[in-house]
Amino acid sequence: MRQVGIALDAAKSCTSHIAAYHPDIDPYDGRRLVLMTELKRAIADDTLDLHFQPIVDTRHQNIIGAEALIRWPHNEFGLIMPDEFIEMAERSGLIQALSIWVIKRSLQILRRLHKINPSLFMAVNISTFNLQDDKFIKALLVLLEKSSDLCRHVVLEITESQMMSDTQDALENLWSLNEQGVKIAIDDFGTGYSSLAYLKKLPAEELKIDKEFIFDLETDKQNQVLVHTAIEMAHNLGMTVVAEGVESEHTRRILEDLNCDMCQGYHFARPMDVDRFAKYLATEHSG
Ligand code: C2E
Ligand code: CA
Ligand code: CA
Ligand code: CA
Repeated sequence: MRQVGIALDAAKSCTSHIAAYHPDIDPYDGRRLVLMTELKRAIADDTLDLHFQPIVDTRHQNIIGAEALIRWPHNEFGLIMPDEFIEMAERSGLIQALSIWVIKRSLQILRRLHKINPSLFMAVNISTFNLQDDKFIKALLVLLEKSSDLCRHVVLEITESQMMSDTQDALENLWSLNEQGVKIAIDDFGTGYSSLAYLKKLPAEELKIDKEFIFDLETDKQNQVLVHTAIEMAHNLGMTVVAEGVESEHTRRILEDLNCDMCQGYHFARPMDVDRFAKYLATEHSG
């Protein structure tokens, strides 16, 4: 009862500016409301954090890249995972500031990690909302220009389902980022409303097959056919392929047989904070 009261108070105190933009928010969801009101400050105060998960080459299992994954260490709720606040950031417009923060921080960390492995690439997730915002693209291009030596080691991951609904503007923005030297990857491949024709229009050089297709690769023959076909198609289009969600050696071996270029998953390592990742990179087979 007490908690409901607090939630309602929180709801009252911010309905004025939220209700207009978020008519579908459940006012009883106290945690959600607290997070919504605090996210902006968390970005500004630099209290968000990035964890890093290695991406390895399938055959030799050398670490060749890392994916930056955002975390929110919260003093009341503990470590909050992105699934709980990315959509919130997208709906409120905070995704622009959030993504700029992520890219800035990723570039700083990539510079540090290059002292250990100068060929490491850094994969960063951006939202389709970013691609539709010209101000964001300008800010990003300025950021990248300042670190132009790192650009060719940066991969921007965008989910397929998001891109499908996109406009000509977003497409043009993708091309200008690509011209700056960064690589574009299609994330979560297979889960969106795939349009094969669309693949051709994007300056994407990498395809990430969604983990849903990878988890039961050992036993699911249909998934084997789908993954095999996706890899062949990507290769025929001149793209490289990453499988995410690789959780066993058996799965890695199947992916090696299917000529999948790179793997990512708990079998190799879970996402870890930068200090642990740097140690991991220094001691594990890094190539
Ligand atoms: P994603 O881009 O598909 O990232 C992969 C997710 O799968 C990560 O979850 C990662 O921890 C998890 N994962 C990796 N290997 C395995 C595995 O072997 N098994 C299982 N079960 N899971 C595995 P995480 O970190 O919770 O991120 C969730 C999603 O949040 C990401 O999915 C991405 O869409 C989004 N996200 C994360 N960081 C950012 C960010 O900085 N910006 C934006 N816009 N979105 C982000
Ligand atoms: Ca991703
Ligand atoms: Ca995914
Ligand atoms: Ca995703």
